[in-house]
Amino acid sequence: CGVFGVYGHRDAAQLAYYGLHSLQHRGQEGAGIVVSDQVGMKQTKGEGLVTEVFQEDTLEKLTGHAAIGHVRYSTAGGGGYVNVQPLFFQTQSESLALAHNGNLTNAMVLREQLERDGSIFQTTSDTEVLAHLIRKHNYLPFEDQIKQSLPYLEGAYAFVIMSEHQLIAVLDPLGMRPLSIGKIDGSWVVASETCAFDVIGAEYVREVKPGEMIIIDQDGLRSEFFAKQNERAICSMEYVYFARPDSNVDGFNIHSTRKMLGKQLAKEAFVDADVVTGVPDSSISAAIGFAETAQLPYELGLIKNRYVGRTFIKPSQELREKGVQMKLSPVRKIVEGKRVVMVDDSIVRGTTSRKIVQMLRDAGATEVHVRISSPPITNPCYYGIDTSSSGELIASSNSVEEIRQLIGADSLSYLSIDGMLEAIGRSSTMKNCGQCLACFTGNYPTEIHDNTIRPHDK
Ligand code: 5GP
Ligand code: SF4
Ligand code: MG
Repeated sequence: CGVFGVYGHRDAAQLAYYGLHSLQHRGQEGAGIVVSDQVGMKQTKGEGLVTEVFQEDTLEKLTGHAAIGHVRYSTAGGGGYVNVQPLFFQTQSESLALAHNGNLTNAMVLREQLERDGSIFQTTSDTEVLAHLIRKHNYLPFEDQIKQSLPYLEGAYAFVIMSEHQLIAVLDPLGMRPLSIGKIDGSWVVASETCAFDVIGAEYVREVKPGEMIIIDQDGLRSEFFAKQNERAICSMEYVYFARPDSNVDGFNIHSTRKMLGKQLAKEAFVDADVVTGVPDSSISAAIGFAETAQLPYELGLIKNRYVGRTFIKPSQELREKGVQMKLSPVRKIVEGKRVVMVDDSIVRGTTSRKIVQMLRDAGATEVHVRISSPPITNPCYYGIDTSSSGELIASSNSVEEIRQLIGADSLSYLSIDGMLEAIGRSSTMKNCGQCLACFTGNYPTEIHDNTIRPHDK
C-alpha cells in the first residue's frame, strides 16, 4: 500500500490526489482521501484506481487544510469497500482517520483482547486494531493516545493518522516500510515514497526513523520516539521490485540500486549471449545493469501493454496466465535467432518466467537464459508485500535446477543474498544488515504468532 499526508495547505485534497496517483503502483484495489478543515472531517473512498475513485467534483468537495490518503493492495484482511482506507471514525469529541502501509503480525491477538473488552470491529483489516487501541486511551490528548497505543503493535507499519487538529506519522521500530517527510509552500507532507514529493513539487526533507512519531500541527513539526532506536530492517523487496525507480528509499535511489543488483548478478552469473532483455517495467533497471557489466547489448526484447494492470494480483492462476499474455509481447525482430538473457526482478510462483521463456522461444530465440536480480523467495511475507503463501512459492519446494526445468529455461541463476546486500549498499556487519531478508532466509525480524494473518488466509 501507499500512504500520503499533508498539513497546513489550502489545496490539501488536490495534493493528496496527485501524491496518491504517483503511488498507484503500490496498490490498485482501492483509494481514499480524508480531509480536515479544523472543525470536521470528510471522506471519499472507493474500490479501483485513483483516477476511478476521484473526479473533479469529488475533489472539490474535499475542502480543508489537511488530508491523508491511501492506495490499497490487500495482502491481509481481504478486499472489499469496507477495508478501503483511510479508515474513518467520527465521535462527538474528535474524529480519527488512519492510513496504513504494512501488516500487523499480532493483529489477531490484539483483536481478540479488544473484542473481549467490548470493541466491535467494522472491518477485517488489521489497521482497525490501532483505532480501537487509540480510543481506549481517549482520556489523554490525541498524540498521547497514539503514543500509548503504539507499543502494543508488532509487525511492519507506516501510519498516517489525522484528527481535526493534528497529522501524525509513525514508523515501526524496525523501520520495515519506507516513509519520508517533505515540504511544500511551507507545509509539511509525508509519503511512502519520494516520487510523491516530486510530482507535487515538494522538497524532500528526511526519512521518518524507526520507532519515530512525527507530530504536525499549527505549531509546526515535532518528533518523538515511542520505541528505542533500532537499526533498520527495511523491506528488501522495496528495492528489488516494489518502489518506483525515481524514488529514493532510505537514501538510495531505486533505479540506481536495481542497476547495481543487475551488475552484481552479471558478476555472479555471467552467460555468453547475443542480447539482454528486461521484463517491463520492474526489471528494466536491473537488465541495463546486467548488460553493462556483461558487456552485452541491452535490447527491448519484450514490450508491455500499458493498459493492463499488475498480473500478480489476479485472483486465479488461469487469469494470471492470461494476464501475462495480455501484458507482455516479444519483439520478434530482436530475439529471432538470438541467444537471449532475460533478467527479471523476482520469481514468486513462476508464472511470469515460464510464460516469457515460452514467448521468447515462440518468437525464435535459440537459447533463453533467465537471471533473477534477487535471491530465491522461499518463505511467505507477513509484513504486507508478497501475497503468496509458502505452498505457492516455487522456490519453497524446488531447487534452482528444478525451477529451471519448470520454467523451461536453458539456464537459471538468482542473485546471492550477500550480492544483493552489497548492491544495495548494506554491510552484513549491521544488525539485520539494515534490511528485512525474511522471505529469502525465513528469519523474521519480529515474532510471528500462530494466528498471524497469513497472506491468502483472507
Ligand atoms: P511470478 O509470476 O513468479 O508469480 O511473480 C514474479 C513476477 O511478478 C515478477 O515479474 C515481478 O516483477 C512481478 N510481481 C508483481 N507483484 C509482485 C510482488 O508483490 N512481489 C514480487 N516478488 N513480484 C511481483
Ligand atoms: Fe519485504 Fe520479504 Fe521482508 Fe516481506 S519478508 S518485508 S517482502 S523483505
Ligand atoms: Mg515484473
